[in-house]
Amino acid sequence: MPERFVHPYLDFLHKVSLPLRYIGGEWGAIKKAHSNCDVTFALVFPDTYEVGMSHIGSCIIYDMVNSEGNLCAERCFAPWTDMEKELRLRGERLRTLESFTPLASFDVVGFSLQHELSYTNCLNCLELGGIPLLSEERNEGDPIVMAGGPCALRPEVMAPFIDLFYVGEAEAGLLDILRTIGNMKRKGASRLEILNELQKLPFVYCPIFAKRRKDEASGFLVPDRVYAERVYVKELSGTGLVHNHVVPWARAIFDRLSIEIARGCSEGCRFCEAGFTYRPARERRIGEVTKNAIHALLNTGFDELSLSALSPADYPALSKLARALSKSTLRLGVTLSISSLRAYGVPEDVLLALRGVRTTTLTLAPEAGTERLRNVINKNVTDEELIEALSVASKLGFQKFKLYFMVGLPTETMEDIEGIGRLCLRALRALRQNGKRTRLTCSLSIFVPRPHTPFQWERFAGENEVREKLAFLRHFLHKTPIELRLPSFETSMLECVLARGDVRVSKAVMEAYKLGARFDNWEEMLRNDLWDRAFSLAGVNPDDFTRELPIDATLPWDGIDPLVSKDFLLKEKERAYKEKPLAPCEKP
Ligand code: SF4
Repeated sequence: MPERFVHPYLDFLHKVSLPLRYIGGEWGAIKKAHSNCDVTFALVFPDTYEVGMSHIGSCIIYDMVNSEGNLCAERCFAPWTDMEKELRLRGERLRTLESFTPLASFDVVGFSLQHELSYTNCLNCLELGGIPLLSEERNEGDPIVMAGGPCALRPEVMAPFIDLFYVGEAEAGLLDILRTIGNMKRKGASRLEILNELQKLPFVYCPIFAKRRKDEASGFLVPDRVYAERVYVKELSGTGLVHNHVVPWARAIFDRLSIEIARGCSEGCRFCEAGFTYRPARERRIGEVTKNAIHALLNTGFDELSLSALSPADYPALSKLARALSKSTLRLGVTLSISSLRAYGVPEDVLLALRGVRTTTLTLAPEAGTERLRNVINKNVTDEELIEALSVASKLGFQKFKLYFMVGLPTETMEDIEGIGRLCLRALRALRQNGKRTRLTCSLSIFVPRPHTPFQWERFAGENEVREKLAFLRHFLHKTPIELRLPSFETSMLECVLARGDVRVSKAVMEAYKLGARFDNWEEMLRNDLWDRAFSLAGVNPDDFTRELPIDATLPWDGIDPLVSKDFLLKEKERAYKEKPLAPCEKP
């Protein structure tokens, strides 16, 4: 008789919130015998199960690695604080969801670094998984700790904790890395020999081999040369599709089937890091999208299909695709949605198809309240086009609308802030002409100057200035039915410091982790008092990384080539200050 499986957390699963996060065994999960695999790979998403299971990139990697007979990928997510407490109390390890193997027993542990506020969770996963936190403290027998995702393009703050950064799209080279590790391990190569071999790949950055110097212009500690350049797949069709979906137990944040229809974006908004670091724009063929979507819907039972892309409205045949899919989605009772919409030029038939069988929220992102400021940030849309887009959608039956704006943008004045309020009021009036029950939300965020963008040298706006602008808008929209969503200044500022930090900031991450910082991107979890202490213990002044940066400085992220030249970014910054948008034909 086969031995009965006993979950290693069985004795305390009932003591934690949402035990479903830790039990594995979902429909579509893949379990392979490690003894039959050349390399075992733990794919760690440093946030909760519900957040991680919504991440399309992780689904692609899981499917891609497991499609190789001799490789195996297993999932692991950051434990919530109650589970962390139980694990520590019992000296129990953090384990993967497929074979319940502790992270320390894998050949490779790979983090998906989507944003900076997950850094303390990464350290927690390492320690609970039984892996030394610092790369230099790891020995033979410890896994190789990799990190990929957007943060790998600005790696210095995490450099001491990571053995190898993978810079770019996983489909372009991750399997090569895993195969090389497998081959070299078989031949008895040491960790250092393996890393030394892998660092020869152009898209790999191994911080232990890096040299740094102090930059005179900025005072930052910066890499002494370019160590890696971003890699990407030339053709999207035929790659990056998930053939086997894992259906989550607990309700995922985005509880739907996502199909990536395009990658990259040619809009060139000057604040947008993704717009510059996922170039060039590429589309998936319609036939491939529809075939994969219908197959996956029938196999998973999801009741919503999301067409995912940075800017889905730029998909050249969006109407045709929506028409091709809507017959099947209606028949299956599935809602069709898209991840986000730019504010104009969306054909009516697409909106009709998106309206689907349930009422969905239509989200538009004008980002700035006046056309002048939209020219500065290169968001090429007029007030008229926005109002027209909203009116059309409202006539077609949409009832919930959300408008996204930023405050603290370069050159912003109070006139631009008032412009946000005025545009929202105008939008509400236009929407209410078609239906009294329309709901409009104005969602604000604070501009963070991000690496590898034309605004990478800009300052992060001061606290008093931001609070004054937010208070003005609160007052302006007070007594209107518009719901105003305000951002957290502290969260945005921390994001800025961790995004633009040099290697010294890693000490603050370590201190914050030791003091108990976890899930820093969860507003209710962010502890500013801990971070203030951490910066002070690490001897790091956060203001050094939020101020305006000198144009001639070498920056901490200059060790990575994003394949967009600094000259181009600089020209774009100059054009921004002249309030000149960039015509599509001028975009690289
Ligand atoms: S349209 Fe969206 S994804 Fe594209 S550059 Fe602008 S903000 Fe970024």
